[in-house]
Amino acid sequence: AKLEGRGTVRFFQQKLHDELVRQHYLSSRLEEALDNGELSLHFQPQVSAVSGGIENLEALLRWEPPEGPTISPAEFIPLAERSGLIHRLGDWVIEEACHQQVAWRAKGFHRHRIDINISGRQLTRPGALKRFEDTLQRHGLAPQDIGIELTENILIEADETVLEDLWRLYHRGIRIAIDDFGIGYSSLSYLKHFPATALKIDRSFIQDAPTQPKDRAILEGAILIGHRLGLEVVAEGVENAEQLSLLRDLHCDLIQGFFFFRPMPAQEIERLLSGFVGG
Ligand code: C2E
Ligand code: CA
Ligand code: CA
Ligand code: CA
Repeated sequence: AKLEGRGTVRFFQQKLHDELVRQHYLSSRLEEALDNGELSLHFQPQVSAVSGGIENLEALLRWEPPEGPTISPAEFIPLAERSGLIHRLGDWVIEEACHQQVAWRAKGFHRHRIDINISGRQLTRPGALKRFEDTLQRHGLAPQDIGIELTENILIEADETVLEDLWRLYHRGIRIAIDDFGIGYSSLSYLKHFPATALKIDRSFIQDAPTQPKDRAILEGAILIGHRLGLEVVAEGVENAEQLSLLRDLHCDLIQGFFFFRPMPAQEIERLLSGFVGG
């Protein structure tokens, strides 16, 4: 038994070692990846729960290294945050989203907005939101063309000036969604002080809501709070018809998830917007 125990320890040490080596490798490769054009934005549609029409597109980062399989942002964003590369990466995402939106508007696709993800860490750089606004303006875009998604943790990481900047954006008409609603560390009272236009309910509350009464109760409560505060409510991670039907019954506004669309490259989005859904 003793020997077995030591073997187990060695096994976990090896795994930890491998993990650290991988992290180090990815972290050092990421900047090069950004320079070499290995990063791209994919877009996942959000559809109206009522009409099924595409209202918004969430921009999601993808890293496709020539030497191996696609790496998830869930893995490389935290690394970029630790190394500080997140600031350059964030600038690139804003630039790329604006560029894409300008191209789509020029092709006559006027309805949809693009929402980008901004992490708390990105907002610790002074003037981050000012740069966002400047980039929008430089591209000749209107405030309603590009929105942002923020998680509750920005309230832990960011300071007073960030909140002031967010209120300015809000008053200019830029849409601000609270992402992953319900799984953060903050209390509900932040909803009073936070300039949001939408709530995105985390997938974990959607998943089992059709069968689990407690999940359903939380989901129902979250939608109600959102609506009572005058916010648009978005459900993320919707994967099946039962979830969709429940969300419709609960008057959720927008639906995002694999049941309708996966995140896709710009060309596929374009085909979709043109009405050539194919298949
Ligand atoms: P998120 O903002 O919560 O994005 C939603 C994630 O759920 C995406 O994962 C999306 O592909 C996935 N998803 C969408 N529908 C479904 C579904 O029906 N089922 C399941 N199982 N998953 C679904 P992804 O693209 O891997 O992104 C992971 C996270 O990485 C994002 O979570 C976001 O926090 C972060 N991220 C992605 N792009 C950016 C970016 O440009 N900037 C920053 N700061 N973070 C980003
Ligand atoms: Ca998001
Ligand atoms: Ca989310
Ligand atoms: Ca999430």
